[in-house]
Amino acid sequence: MSKRAQSDNSLACSFCHKHQDVVGKLISSPSDYPRAYICDECIAVCNSILEDDKTCNKPETGSVEPSPEMIQVIREELRLLLYDIPDSDIKIVAKILHALV
Ligand SMILES: [Zn+2]
Repeated sequence: MSKRAQSDNSLACSFCHKHQDVVGKLISSPSDYPRAYICDECIAVCNSILEDDKTCNKPETGSVEPSPEMIQVIREELRLLLYDIPDSDIKIVAKILHALV
């Protein structure tokens, strides 16, 4: 009886095409169509890419927020508002607030 000629000797990583005897570990896909393999080296590369993505996503936030300097200025100006401040200072506050809106 003819067994399906699936030459197990020539298994290779589907990503880097290294043969199974060159790499440490070759993991096969769960499905047969088409059967894919990935070696431990490519898994390591994938892991580092995923780690990079995690760290790259962080500094995305805060682009709409006013700068820390601006917040500091407003905080100082608002503190002045609690006291009896001259009209000239109120104009400064108004200018700053208007710039943010
Ligand atoms: Zn590989």
